[in-house]
Amino acid sequence: MDRSISRRDFGGLLTGAASTAILSAVLPAPAVWAQGRSSSASDLASNLQGIAGEVIVDEASRAAYADDYGRIVHKIPDAVLVPRDSGDLVKLVQYANKSKTKIGIRGMGHSMLGQAQIDRGVLVDMAALDSISILDNDRVEVGAGSTWGPVMSETAANKRTLPVINDTFLSVGGSLSTAGFGPTTWNKGLMVDNTLELEVVTGAGELVRCSETTNQDLFLAVLSGLGQCAIITRAVMKQVAAPTHVLYIKIFYDDDAIRAAHDLAFLARDGRFNHLDLRSRTYPFGGLEYYIEGGVFYDAPNEPKLDDLKKGLSASSFEPKTWTYEEYYRRAESCYSCVPAPKPSLYLTVPASKFDVFVKNTLSDPSTSAYIAPWFSIWRRDAQSRPLARVADEDFIYRTQFNRVLPNSADVKAFLALNRALYEKVRDLGGTRLTTSAIPFEPKDWERHYGAAWPAFKATKEKYDPGNVLGSSVNVFGKG
Ligand SMILES: Cc1cc2nc3c(=O)[nH]c(=O)nc-3n(C[C@H](O)[C@H](O)[C@H](O)COP(=O)(O)OP(=O)(O)OC[C@H]3O[C@@H](n4cnc5c(N)ncnc54)[C@H](O)[C@@H]3O)c2cc1C
Repeated sequence: MDRSISRRDFGGLLTGAASTAILSAVLPAPAVWAQGRSSSASDLASNLQGIAGEVIVDEASRAAYADDYGRIVHKIPDAVLVPRDSGDLVKLVQYANKSKTKIGIRGMGHSMLGQAQIDRGVLVDMAALDSISILDNDRVEVGAGSTWGPVMSETAANKRTLPVINDTFLSVGGSLSTAGFGPTTWNKGLMVDNTLELEVVTGAGELVRCSETTNQDLFLAVLSGLGQCAIITRAVMKQVAAPTHVLYIKIFYDDDAIRAAHDLAFLARDGRFNHLDLRSRTYPFGGLEYYIEGGVFYDAPNEPKLDDLKKGLSASSFEPKTWTYEEYYRRAESCYSCVPAPKPSLYLTVPASKFDVFVKNTLSDPSTSAYIAPWFSIWRRDAQSRPLARVADEDFIYRTQFNRVLPNSADVKAFLALNRALYEKVRDLGGTRLTTSAIPFEPKDWERHYGAAWPAFKATKEKYDPGNVLGSSVNVFGKG
C-alpha cells in the first residue's frame, strides 16, 4: 500500500483507488513540461527526472486534492508529488525554475480558502517527510510532513514536551508556515516562537539550513511566511520538561461570552493555569454556552487544590478532570467538524481594549452571527516575536475565532463578503487576521497586513525565490 496517501485523511476523500494511480518516476531526459496542464503521465514522468518519490497524475487521484478544510476553493493540480526526501524537492524546484512551473505545498490541508491548493502546476503532498529525531534534551528535529501527534508521543517517551502545541492532527510545515497557536500560547508564544532552526528548499532550488544566527533573513521569512520563499523540510523545535499530570477544568458561563472573556483576561494576568482557552458549545435546546478551559500541569502527587483555582472567578459552574499528560495531549487527535460543507471560518486578533465592543456587536447582530460558534483565547503580546506573525499591538490580545459550518445551500460569497467586512472593522481597531482563515485578500491587503515587516519579506522573496515558483496559492506578492 502507498503510505504517502493512504495514511492520510484529507477529509475522507482519498480511496484505495488513488493508490493505483501513483507512478514512481523513472526517467529519460527532461524536456519542456508545458506550462498548462500536463497531457499525460508519461510527459510528466519524463520531465521529473530522478525523483525518488511518487508522482500522482491520473485525474481521479488529483481530484482528491482539489479541496481543503474550507470546501470553498476547488482546484485540481496538474500533478501531485509525494517527495521521498528533501533531494526530491530540490529537483522539483530546479525543474520548476527551468520550465516556469508553479509549485503549491500541502500539509494537512486545513486551510479555509485555498491557501494550500494550486491548479496550474505541481502540488507537493508533504506527508512522507515525517521523520522525528530527538537531538538532545532540549531539541527535537521533525520532518515537515509529520503531524504533531507522533512528535508528542516521541518527546513524551523521554518525559519532554513542546512548550506550545496546536491541534495534533495538523502538519509541522503547515503550522510553522502559518503561526501555530495552542492553549499555552497565552504566555509561551506561537509555535514559530519556539522554533530553533529550519531546513528548507528555497525557491531557487537550494537546500539550506537557517536559524536566528544562520541565514536569519530566510528563517524569519519562512516562519509564518505562507511558503512564499521556501519549502520547509525539517524543523528543530524546543523541548521542555513534561508534567506527569494535568488538572483540567471546564469553567462555565452560561450564554455570557463577555463575562467569560473577562475572566479569561483575569486568568491571563493572574497566571494560575498553564493551559488557557475559551470555547462555546451548542445547548441541546439551542443557543451557545461558553466555557473556559483551564489546565494546571503538575507532577504527581502534587495536585493543585481545586478551591484555589476557582478563586476570583465569576463562573456558574466547574467541571474538573484529572488526566495523565498523555491523556491530555491525546484529547483531540482527529479533525473536528471536517464535514463536506463550506466552512468560511474567521480567525482574527483583536486588541483586548477593543474586544468587548467588537464581539458584542458581532454576536448581537443576527446578520453577522449566523452559523457562528465563537472560540477565544488571550495572548500576552510580549511572548511573541516573529515578524511575520502579525497580531494586534497591545499588551494583551484576544484571538477571536468565529467557526462557521454552512449548509451546502448557503450563499458562500455573501459569507466571504461578511468575513471581509468584519476583518476590516477589526483592522481599523488595530487588529489583524490569522492567515489560514477565509477572508478574500489582494496583494495590496497583504502588504498592509505585513506592515513594517513587508520590505524585508519582499526583499527575501526576491532573493530566495527569484523565479517566483512558490507561493501562488496565496499570491501575497501579486505575481500570480
Ligand atoms: C479543525 C481545525 C483546527 C485547527 N486548529 C488549529 C490550531 O490548534 N492551531 C493553529 O495554529 N491553527 C489551527 N487551525 C488553523 C490552520 O488551518 C492550521 O494552522 C494550518 O492550516 C496548518 O495546518 P495544515 O497542516 O493543514 O496546513 P495546510 O493548510 O496544508 O497549509 C497551510 C499553509 O502552509 C503552507 N505550507 C504547508 N506546508 C508547508 C511547508 N512544508 N513548507 C512551506 N509551506 C507550507 C501551505 O502552502 C499553506 O499556505 C485549525 C484549522 C482547522 C480547520
